[in-house]
Amino acid sequence: MPVHVETHANISDAARALSSARDGRFFGGGTLLMRALNEADQSIGTIVRCTDPVLRQVRSEGDRIAIGAGVTMAEIMANRDLAFLAPVARIIGGPAVRSAATVGGNLFAEPPYGDFTTALLALDASVRFAGESGQSTPLQDFLRDRANRRGRVVESVMVPRITDPKALRFVKVTRVKPKGAALMSIAAWLPGSGGRGCRIAYGNMAPTPVRAAAAERALEGASLSEQGIARALQAATEGLTPPTDMFASEWYRREVAPVHLKRLLLGQGQ
Ligand SMILES: Cc1cc2nc3c(=O)[nH]c(=O)nc-3n(C[C@H](O)[C@H](O)[C@H](O)COP(=O)(O)OP(=O)(O)OC[C@H]3O[C@@H](n4cnc5c(N)ncnc54)[C@H](O)[C@@H]3O)c2cc1C
Repeated sequence: MPVHVETHANISDAARALSSARDGRFFGGGTLLMRALNEADQSIGTIVRCTDPVLRQVRSEGDRIAIGAGVTMAEIMANRDLAFLAPVARIIGGPAVRSAATVGGNLFAEPPYGDFTTALLALDASVRFAGESGQSTPLQDFLRDRANRRGRVVESVMVPRITDPKALRFVKVTRVKPKGAALMSIAAWLPGSGGRGCRIAYGNMAPTPVRAAAAERALEGASLSEQGIARALQAATEGLTPPTDMFASEWYRREVAPVHLKRLLLGQGQ
């Protein structure tokens, strides 16, 4: 089936084109989309591209930073204001993938991908669609309803401005190092010396990145010591149904999640 490709200079025009094409997909960096096309995915009939500079910008907005959806992992690594996200961007694929893979595309990446989005979830990021000036949707809500968002163009992702890069911890658990796909990734936002206000997110433990709500609750008011985190580790996978796939079984994921979470919370090298 021939695929129709259209390129728009303006994000509003691109958004209109995408919403009116039932078989349309927005083109980010194409690292996943081109694979789907090469595999003759028949559900894709229209590709919508957009060259609007707004997609490539990183802007300050008060105490938040708006990262354009078209910003690549390589650009994240090179941006000083986003130094707290550089270690996460660095583990996405190899150099060729990182020079094309975008923040917007990662929001839609299905398991075993979506590592960057897992870190964004721990940061309590939000998503701004094209045409929504000043408004944004919490990333958690976006992910719950992700399948229904495909017809809309994401313009940017809002993250808090972080001054202490150590407050965001991240691990990608793989069988093949350094570039294998993650059997799970874990991101923890630890704003103080204890567990108060912490957020923990998992990748590849559900169809989309998810928060580890039970572990977060168990950490509230606890110290980040072996004793203090014990209840959180017991609750590490509570309320989750991890998948069994070619990378790991549900049983294995449940077994290793507390091990990696423990190392992350105690700041032990992974
Ligand atoms: C060899 C290899 C290794 C990889 N390793 C990793 C890894 O370690 N970790 C990881 O997380 N991922 C990995 N990936 C997957 C992928 O590269 C990343 O997830 C990347 O961020 C996807 O972004 P993209 O711009 O290439 O998406 P695209 O392929 O352009 O698009 C993916 C999906 O997102 C949608 N989309 C893209 N941008 C927008 C937007 N602005 N608005 C609305 N919809 C949009 C597209 O329509 C499509 O449905 C790897 C891929 C390859 C090929």
